[in-house]
This record gives sequence, C-alpha cells and structure tokens, in this order.
Amino acid sequence: MAEHYDVIIIGSGAGGGTLAHTLASSGKRILLLERGDFLPRELDNWDAKPVFVDGKYISKDTWFDRDGKSFQPQVHYFVGGATKLYGAALYRLRPRDFGELKHTSGISPAWPLSYDDFEPWYSQAEQLYQVHGNAGEDPTEGHRSEAYPWPAVSHEPRIQHISDDLAKGGYHPFHAPCGILLNEARRPMSTCIRCATCDGYPCLVHAKSDAEVIAVRPLLDRSNVTLVTGAEVRRLETDDSGRTVTGVVVSRDGNREVYRGDIVAVSAGAANSAKLLLNSANDKHPQGLANGSDQVGRNYMFHNCLAVVALAKEKNDTIFQKTLGINDFYFATKDYQWPMGNIQMIGKSNAQAMRGEQPEKTMFAPNWTLADVAEHAVDFWLTTEDLPVPENRVTTDQHGNVHLTYSATNDEEAGRLYGELKKILNHTGMAAHHVLRKNFYMDMSIPVAGCAHQAGTCRFGADPATSVLDVDCKAHELDNLYVVDTSFFPSIGAVNPALTAMANALRVGEHLLDRMA
Ligand SMILES: Cc1cc2nc3c(=O)[nH]c(=O)nc-3n(C[C@H](O)[C@H](O)[C@H](O)COP(=O)(O)OP(=O)(O)OC[C@H]3O[C@@H](n4cnc5c(N)ncnc54)[C@H](O)[C@@H]3O)c2cc1C
Ligand code: SF4
Repeated sequence: MAEHYDVIIIGSGAGGGTLAHTLASSGKRILLLERGDFLPRELDNWDAKPVFVDGKYISKDTWFDRDGKSFQPQVHYFVGGATKLYGAALYRLRPRDFGELKHTSGISPAWPLSYDDFEPWYSQAEQLYQVHGNAGEDPTEGHRSEAYPWPAVSHEPRIQHISDDLAKGGYHPFHAPCGILLNEARRPMSTCIRCATCDGYPCLVHAKSDAEVIAVRPLLDRSNVTLVTGAEVRRLETDDSGRTVTGVVVSRDGNREVYRGDIVAVSAGAANSAKLLLNSANDKHPQGLANGSDQVGRNYMFHNCLAVVALAKEKNDTIFQKTLGINDFYFATKDYQWPMGNIQMIGKSNAQAMRGEQPEKTMFAPNWTLADVAEHAVDFWLTTEDLPVPENRVTTDQHGNVHLTYSATNDEEAGRLYGELKKILNHTGMAAHHVLRKNFYMDMSIPVAGCAHQAGTCRFGADPATSVLDVDCKAHELDNLYVVDTSFFPSIGAVNPALTAMANALRVGEHLLDRMA
C-alpha cells in the first residue's frame, strides 16, 4: 500500500517550504510536492542576459488577461518558489497595516489578527531567515521582542551619501531589512560575497536566504520528510461528505499519481492555489473546493509598483545597492491625507539587463547610451498598497487555465509617491527631471504579468461568508485543508510580502503541531 502521510504540503516556496521546515522536527511524516525542480547552479544564474532578457528562469505557463489575451506570467517553478529569484528584502508589515486604512480607491480592511499576534512569528522568521537590519531607524516600524539576528547590511559610499543627504533634509532613511548570508565582520568566512547580481537573480553560491537554502535543503536527509519534484498537483479529491481531502492528484512525468495524507496544506502561490481549488470542484463543492462563499480567487493583489532610475553627474559604482529604505510617505503626511507607500532601492542597473528599452532623453544627458545611463543610475522601487477588490480575481476556464482579471488601485497615491521621490531627490543632487522609469525589472512593461508580489485569493477571516480560511488558515468548509502561502492576506500593505508569508507559515505550523499532538 502506498505511504500515508501526516501532512502533504503543495509548493515549496516562502509558505510551503517554511511550513515543512517547522513541522519536520516533530518526526511526523511530511510530503512536499513541488511542481518544479531544483534551480540549476550555473554561470547563467548571475548573467543579466539569460535572467532578464531571455527570462530563462520564468515558467513557460500561459495565463489569460480579462480580454482573453494570453501572456507569460512572471512566476518561477523551482524548489524554493519565487524566493529563488527574490530580492530578499524581508520587511514586517507595519502595525497599522493590520487595522483598517482608508485609501483613495477604498478601504484596506483590518486583519482578524493584530501586529501583536504576529510579532513573535515575525521574530522567529527573522531568526530562521537570518535577516540583517537595524531596529529603531524607521519611525513606522512596530515593536519587536527579539533583535535582528544580524546587523544591517552596510551602505556603500554612494548610498551612504544619499542617506546622509536625506537625513539632512529631515527625512528618516533606514537600513533595509535583508536576508542574505553576509558576514561583514568576517568577510573571509562569509557565504555571501556581496555581488551585483542579487535582486531578481538566483544566487549561484546559495548565499541568499531563500526557502530552498534555508528551509528545504536542511530537511533532505531526514527520513520523515519526502520531497517529490516535478510533481504538479492538478486536483484535490474529497470524501462523499466534502469535508475531508482524501486524495492529492499529481501529474508527474506524464503519469497520474495520487498521494494521501491526514492534512493537506496548499502553498502553490496566490494564483496557483486559487487555480487548484477552483479546478477541484466536485458535487459537494460545485464552485470549487472551499468556495461556497464565492471568495476563492477574488481579492487578488500584487502591489502598485514603479521602478525608476535617478541620474546624477557622478557615477554610481555601488555593487550591492538594496540597502536603503524610506517610509516617510508610508502613511498620510501633513501635506497629503492618504497613505502613499514605501520607497526602497533595487538592484543596480545594468546595461545588458536594460537592453530593449528605449532610454528616455533627459535634459541632463540628451546623448547618453544605455551603458551611460546604467553607470550613473541610482535605482529606486516604489510600492503603494494595492486594495483587495472582489472583481480583481483569478478564474479558470474549461481547460483549467488561469484567467487574471485585474485593474490597479490607488493610482493617485502611487503618482503622489513618485512626486515625493522626485522632490526628495532634490536633496541628493539628483534633480526631478533626471528620473526615468525602468521597465525591465519584473517586466513592468506588461503590468498584469509582473505578479511577483501576488497575494489574496483565499483570504483568512472569522466570517465564512466573506473569507475562505479561518484564522488558523484552515478552509472554513473542510476539516483538513489549509492554505499557507500569500493567498491568506486580507490586505497587502506596502512592503514586500515574503516575511509575512514565512511568519504565518511558522504560526500555522505550531497550530498543526498542536492539532497532531
Ligand atoms: C523577482 C522577484 C523579486 C522579489 N523580491 C522580493 C523581496 O525582495 N522581498 C519579498 O518579501 N518578496 C519578494 N518577492 C516576492 C516573494 O518571492 C513572494 O511573495 C513569495 O515567494 C511568495 O511565497 P508563496 O509561498 O506564496 O509562493 P512561492 O514562493 O512562489 O511558492 C509557490 C510554490 O508552489 C509551486 N507550485 C505552483 N503550483 C504548483 C502545483 N500545482 N503543484 C505543486 N507545486 C506548485 C511553485 O513551483 C513554487 O515553488 C519577489 C518575487 C520575485 C519574483
Ligand atoms: S549578494 Fe550575496 S546572496 Fe546576493 S547573489 Fe550575491 S552572493 Fe548571493
């Protein structure tokens, strides 16, 4: 008879990988089903052309937009999921993000749990993912029960200069929290070499705190943990009552396989988790599994983002640039009554990665080539909260394909944040008319495809009429089905989502350990 598992986890990214890690030491039999394989370690990992121009590590999936037009989503199917390519900016949501916040496009709803509820799990996640940061610099951050395990990654001279100029201008720049295995005090012992090909690239030397390196790899020798790669879960089967998942149907090497376990935790990423539940409709769940409320797939969010480069006469020879954040506009200011969002740095521009873009002419540098632009660029990433709108949703067609209907929210706030960036750059010698949009990062040119920060689709809450999951992330309508990726977010805030997914997986992990005790 085929093995019966205590827990089957579907997807090995920030949510699923972290959940597997926290359950493993219990000795329970854990099965981790991952549709991708290990990301190959090869020189292409650190080469801008294969990574950004050729999209070598982006899935070949085809999704469809609201008009039925096909596009290639920026999703990554590997052990470790999207974290293999992520920028490792590991932020906590701000305490006020857990409450209701009013925005120009509507309401960011309150979570059923508070920042205080999440705080211990954020601390544990920061320890596990070895986050580097300096507490106390950012006035918007919440209290913490544990110090960051590592000091913040230092600014290189150009970024330190910008930080000093901003501080002189009355702003509160801070060291961005970052998950890289860098030991600056003992560089010869450091796993991370502090290179320029981090944000958006896989790490060739496995020095990024991604879910494969931190959470999954350390489990591979454990006899109670089984990882099956190339295992695409197509459908979940239930018993006749519809209350219990009894079979996890997988397509692997062209064959159909069925796995069985007491508890099933879906963690395939917000869009794919919704896809799986919708494609698992049966007599008891005619609209899709756990979807009696018609909430599965709805409230898809992915941040209202903008990548820009600011140009100055002096060259920017920074190597690892993602060290600075600014939250002075995260909430309302004295001049603007709405929250605007977060400003942070992203990986340094690289002429090869920018290939295919038409450099905009600037008054400052009318004849600059892409190489000149890249050499002088200082690169910023602006994030405004995206609101959970029921009409922004994932649906599937008769072939099971994902259709993504999405319209951006809070455009006015995003525009205002861009304006604030231009203003603050006046304090740094990079004047407003030398700021250009940068499209290649996360393929900003096809907005709906840039789904790196996808969340929502199965939100958690107390009311089964308006949420898919209860506060333990168990489906209201089933007894043994959990969803443990960014799907559970009722709102997304304006900081990067991965640490919240990791912290939540640790929280749900403890609940499952109690349940199985
Ligand atoms: C380029 C890039 C940069 C980013 N930078 C940051 C950052 O700096 N900070 C931050 O916080 N976040 C960042 N993110 C976002 C972050 O990576 C995600 O929020 C996080 O990984 C989401 O976790 P998840 O568990 O929901 O999904 P994922 O990590 O994507 O994991 C989902 C897993 O499920 C697997 N899967 C999918 N379908 C199936 C199926 N049917 N059967 C089996 N397995 C399946 C996938 O292969 C994948 O391994 C970035 C993302 C990208 C792409
Ligand atoms: S900066 Fe460090 S973690 Fe990032 S890719 Fe380079 S070596 Fe890896």
